[in-house]
Amino acid sequence: MKKRVLSGIRATGRLHLGNYLGAIKGMIELQNNPDYETFYMVADAHAITTPFSVEELRQNRREIIIDYLAVGLDPEKSTLFIQSQVPPHFELSFYFSSVTTIARMMHLPTYKEKVKQYPKNNTMALLNYPILMAADILLYKANLVPVGIDQEPHLEVAREIARKMNQIYGTTFPEPQRFATKGEYIPSLTGEGKMSKSVEGSYINLTDSLDEIRKKIRSVPTASVVGKEMTPGLKTLFIFADLFIPNEVEKYKKSFTDGTLKFVELKDALAEAIYRELKPFQEKRKQIASDLAYVEKVIKNGAQKAKAVAQETLKEVKEKMGLS
Ligand code: ATP
Ligand code: MG
Repeated sequence: MKKRVLSGIRATGRLHLGNYLGAIKGMIELQNNPDYETFYMVADAHAITTPFSVEELRQNRREIIIDYLAVGLDPEKSTLFIQSQVPPHFELSFYFSSVTTIARMMHLPTYKEKVKQYPKNNTMALLNYPILMAADILLYKANLVPVGIDQEPHLEVAREIARKMNQIYGTTFPEPQRFATKGEYIPSLTGEGKMSKSVEGSYINLTDSLDEIRKKIRSVPTASVVGKEMTPGLKTLFIFADLFIPNEVEKYKKSFTDGTLKFVELKDALAEAIYRELKPFQEKRKQIASDLAYVEKVIKNGAQKAKAVAQETLKEVKEKMGLS
């Protein structure tokens, strides 16, 4: 039997380089490996765990499906679907909450960060986020999850829930592992924290023009280089260099050590290399966005396929828990 893969992206905004390098590259690789059956969702319910606008959420759900298609996810090979269109995610997540303590959830670094980011939004939905994510993964009995390193604590929760459910109720959940990529952690352009959709000024979007990318990269703070220590902003630039201009990294490192590095030269070289990688995606995206009937069909078929698998798992869990 093929191994299963699940991943998702929150419908909180336009995709950025971190999403692409940390998650999507792995999603594409596994889709194209015949040993795996891949399920990729738009995590719209996860988007309501932080403050959101109804109109933007409605748009983002479809935009992310268009992004998926434009990066090369293929509905013939992968099940592409919208999370809230498959209600078993919510039902399973409630059953999982019965084997998860409040203390365990409150100690997660992601939870603490989001409370810091939105102090007025310390909701039950936010606290429950990792439980819903465990349900997302285990509903498909996925073994592998291509996500960035920021999601590792949530995967640990999913493994704990799988173990507990299997011990107590005799279910047959696998313990899902993260599928890591080279770009598993893309720092913010501000030099502080990670690149995030919901942090203004932190990201380069996959749809940015060369001019926009150049402007954003030029704004990465590099000025205050003290002695030979790299500032966080400069470290960020070298992470991009490793990923986008690997053959030139040594040259730039050497000129940094010599004290001859012109930051703007490195920045502009990076902007051009990043744009070169994004251009084919941008062209394909325009084409797909002009055929919304096709996009709607993909969404409808995806929900049907995901539901069929999800309902089977839910049935097994309900039987084993004495709920049917
Ligand atoms: P938000 O700020 O709304 O949480 P986000 O940018 O963190 O948005 P998510 O939708 O939470 O994006 O995550 C989607 C996928 O992208 C996940 O697999 C996540 O691990 C990955 N990812 C997000 N940010 C980065 C990053 N900076 N570097 C590498 N991977 C990332
Ligand atoms: Mg996130």
